[in-house]
Amino acid sequence: MHYVSTRGNAPTLTFEEAMLTGLARDGGLYVPADVPKMAQSDIAALAGLSYEEVAFRVMRPFLGDSFTDAEFEDIIAKAYASFGHDARAPLVQLGPNHHLLELFHGPTLAFKDFAMQLIGQMFQVALAKRGEKVTIVGATSGDTGSAAIEAFRGLDAVDVFILYPHGRVSEVQRRQMTTPVESNVHALALHGHFDDCQGKLKDMFNDFTFRDEVRLAGVNSINWARVLAQVVYYFSSAVSLGAPAREVSFTVPTGNFGDIFAGYIAKRMGLPIKQLVVATNKNDILHRALSTGDYTTGEVFSTISPSMDIQVSSNFERALFDAYDRDGSAVAQLMDELKGGGFKISQGALQRLQALFVSGRADEAQTSAAITGYLKRTGEILCPHSAVGTYVAEAHIGPDPMITLATAHPAKFPDAVEAATGQRPPLPRRMADLYDRSERVTEVENNLESLETLIRERRTA
Ligand SMILES: *Cc1c(COP(=O)(O)O)cnc(C)c1O
Repeated sequence: MHYVSTRGNAPTLTFEEAMLTGLARDGGLYVPADVPKMAQSDIAALAGLSYEEVAFRVMRPFLGDSFTDAEFEDIIAKAYASFGHDARAPLVQLGPNHHLLELFHGPTLAFKDFAMQLIGQMFQVALAKRGEKVTIVGATSGDTGSAAIEAFRGLDAVDVFILYPHGRVSEVQRRQMTTPVESNVHALALHGHFDDCQGKLKDMFNDFTFRDEVRLAGVNSINWARVLAQVVYYFSSAVSLGAPAREVSFTVPTGNFGDIFAGYIAKRMGLPIKQLVVATNKNDILHRALSTGDYTTGEVFSTISPSMDIQVSSNFERALFDAYDRDGSAVAQLMDELKGGGFKISQGALQRLQALFVSGRADEAQTSAAITGYLKRTGEILCPHSAVGTYVAEAHIGPDPMITLATAHPAKFPDAVEAATGQRPPLPRRMADLYDRSERVTEVENNLESLETLIRERRTA
């Protein structure tokens, strides 16, 4: 099993190399050269297994010989041991044919824990074997950063630096990043938007001198290993609702196209997924691109679902790569045009994308109304991102089960939830003291040189 870049101009890598690298050296993203297929009988055999067993069987074919079976079993066991629910990703029914996949029982209360806890364990095993240390730099709209810090805190082979947009993350998100006491954890509040954070991260990866000097590693959703970890819950949930004998659909609240792309991989592996519904908030570039082919970036709006306040959707590049028949130079050209403000997807590529994905958007009022309505009709309290999902899902529910991904716990976004319901959702008891811990953070300007200097100086590994 090997991995190729979406821009066709970087070395092919093993799973472990692609995981430790993150972004390809030609600026592209790594994808598997071939997607392994799972036979329908092997999918049927997942029924009744634990989440960990499903995870092993779904991910194993992608790893090549990066880890032994015993190592990988141990990695999976450790990754999910800290979750607050034995099922890891339980399903709750919202209505006839509508189910909610609760992905918020991990240590930072968002679905990012599924991938981040796993790659924390994988980094540790891989780096120990190699006798190497790395500097992880991540950009976050809130949840990736807290999940990364939680997964890497205290590991001696890594320093973890997280860039988040100053003043634009929720208090719970901020505190999860600024309260860990370990000296290898560095929270950086950047004066700008999430897209600025992500832009600076990409610039660091493209500065090869810096990249090699600090041995930069990326754990953003551009990291293939993260996408792979997210493929698992598409299988576990679909099988528990009758797949492969029955088709299921998924609605995925998304901004960076990471989670929904994992669903697309599940489908390519053979999981019978009928519809993959992309749900965006008011920052609807993905909805516009999939409906009209016009991928033009605009202003970033701050919404009550801040983890999706994004105009440049990094993982969409992976979908474009397949839609353009894996033509890396065509993708590289689109990404060049994007620097100038946007591009038009070709007719052929758009038709392929539209055969795979449908999309919808929820504005602020619709999101709030969904939170209010679902509480009244089902007793479930949704986080605003999950509410974007349920709102968009409603237009696509048919005779087959629809699964909407609940991407965060409502207590992570208490202001929006309280405004919609009059109730302030409490934090789970295991993190009730979050508001009492002291914070440690450095404010930084949106400037590459000063950021690189700071990282050089602060590094402990
Ligand atoms: C990160 C995040 C999303 C969006 O995830 P994508 O990688 O863009 O698909 C949605 N909801 C929450 C709560 C998140 O943290």
